[in-house]
Amino acid sequence: MYCRNCGSPILLNAPDVCANCGANKGDGSKFCPNCGAPTTPEDTRCNNCGTPLLAEEVTPPKSKLVAGLLALFLGTFGIHNFYLGYTTKAIIQLSVSVVFLVLGCCTVGISCIVTAGIGIWAFVEGILILTGKIDKDGQGRPLGD
Ligand SMILES: [Zn+2]
Ligand SMILES: [Zn+2]
Repeated sequence: MYCRNCGSPILLNAPDVCANCGANKGDGSKFCPNCGAPTTPEDTRCNNCGTPLLAEEVTPPKSKLVAGLLALFLGTFGIHNFYLGYTTKAIIQLSVSVVFLVLGCCTVGISCIVTAGIGIWAFVEGILILTGKIDKDGQGRPLGD
């Protein structure tokens, strides 16, 4: 890859700063990180090799492992669905769990069953995420490992 600030080559295992100009890896907008061709800040893709230059286009995918573990351990509160961007589902799980945990002070039996039900729902989702049955985030982007 190439320094985006000065265009000098950077080794893949090099430190996070450019040895030539001291810019952080990925900082700058004057050169293509893939081929080293000059770019302008307005370019969304390199004119030479087509590499996407905007940060949001190269955002790494959401991690399947993180989402799965969140579902298994904090799934009762919908944390994994917040992480994946399934906000509606996450709010349902969170609010139902919180409401019934609060109610639990007076009606222990029923609220235990409901909260456990959300926990089982989240647990199943965790398994589905880890086994690849749920493989997209809330924006429909594929999950990474
Ligand atoms: Zn540099
Ligand atoms: Zn390029």
